[in-house]
Amino acid sequence: MNKKQEIATVSRLNTKPRIIPRDQHTISRDLISENALKVLYRLKNAGYKSYLVGGGVRDILLGRQPKDFDVVTDAKPEQIRELFRHCRLIGRRFRLAHVHFRNEIIEVSTFRAPHHVSDEGEGHVQDGRIVRDNVYGDIDDDVWRRDFTVNALFYNIADFSVVDYVGGVNDLNERKLRLIGDPVQRYIEDPVRMLRAVRFASKLGLDIHADAVAPIPKYADMLENIPPARLFEEVLKLFMAGHAIKTFELLRQHRLFKYLFPQTDKLIDSEANNYSACFIKQALVNTDQRLAEGNTVSPGFLLAAFLWEPMRREAEEHMGHGLPEMEAIQLAGDAVISRQIASTSMPKRFSQMARDIWSLQVRLKKIAKRPFKVLSNNRFRAAYDFLLLRAQAGEQLSECIEYWTQQQLEESMPIINKPRSDTKQNRRRRRRPRDKD
Ligand code: ATP
Ligand code: MG
Repeated sequence: MNKKQEIATVSRLNTKPRIIPRDQHTISRDLISENALKVLYRLKNAGYKSYLVGGGVRDILLGRQPKDFDVVTDAKPEQIRELFRHCRLIGRRFRLAHVHFRNEIIEVSTFRAPHHVSDEGEGHVQDGRIVRDNVYGDIDDDVWRRDFTVNALFYNIADFSVVDYVGGVNDLNERKLRLIGDPVQRYIEDPVRMLRAVRFASKLGLDIHADAVAPIPKYADMLENIPPARLFEEVLKLFMAGHAIKTFELLRQHRLFKYLFPQTDKLIDSEANNYSACFIKQALVNTDQRLAEGNTVSPGFLLAAFLWEPMRREAEEHMGHGLPEMEAIQLAGDAVISRQIASTSMPKRFSQMARDIWSLQVRLKKIAKRPFKVLSNNRFRAAYDFLLLRAQAGEQLSECIEYWTQQQLEESMPIINKPRSDTKQNRRRRRRPRDKD
């Protein structure tokens, strides 16, 4: 019997969950979104089992606001679709339902089993890696396919209890991130779990258990076989959740950053003065700060920051061969991005934004003859922020920063300073008699 079968057998025969009744945990329905509750109740009222699972349960138990809510049930995807009007079935690797509400999507999945437990549905493993996972089961099958103990807690809408098969509540209390089952096997099944370990550790302030850390050096190379589109999604989750700086440090510590941004990683390792690392850290500190203040962050800006130094080095080489700066930056930008998308692919709008930010750096370094043209470029603000970032990281740019700050102030001056306000239409408007009461 292989390890996986052992784990499954233990789950089926020997493992009794710890049921934590409502009065002994902190999950109240007030803390669950109305839409998630609707989904949970509709499934239950239709006779299905219905649980909140994953980040929703974990985060509420930690006293945090969940990012989203995931629901799990014994209803099959088609049965889920019959219950909800705005429901789409998605995914090949995992087939699941998205129930759409005006400003929220609730992800509903069907209990799944390790592949050999049931013959029903379709499951598929290649070299130990799960490429398709649609074998259905029950809650006591489903729990073992989840990654970390803290992610495998179920909140039962039928009696408001928390169901814990894996000691997840204890691990939460002890701030420990522990993989379910044999760590090597779990990483082979899905290498992205190594990145998820770092993500949850930084986001939740948990310590990755030594058993989950140990196999990383040997198995990290498996991340090279993950589709670049999936890795890009992971990059967004890693760096756009408000804990980017901690995440970056942990990724570097576990030598995982190189699978996401190989060119940058190589440069950081080769530099004696640490400038690239310093620049990226500053970008990530700013990102976390913007998110904490409720501002948005564009993935295009982050990309521009991660790839700036590799791009700049390459552009300098081109300039050494006599190419003008703008052309050198464009050429180097194209090359750096086309190498990057072999690791993490990305929508064109993000890579284009990075290119625009880089090109505008050339124009922002000069006193412009027609500043209005530069100011009205729709990437101006991002490019200006990027200039500030470069200065924060130690570049001497105070003169052009002052100039462009001043230009923006003048641009936003009250309208009386501008000849444009004295248009024919405005003069006519001023002459028009006021309405009488
Ligand atoms: P977040 O707060 O980022 O949403 P989450 O724990 O809810 O965190 P999701 O990616 O939304 O993470 O996944 C929901 C749940 O599905 C997880 O908690 C986990 O139980 C399970 N899961 C997701 N991805 C994997 C994976 N790669 N391997 C095993 N289980 C996974
Ligand atoms: Mg989630």
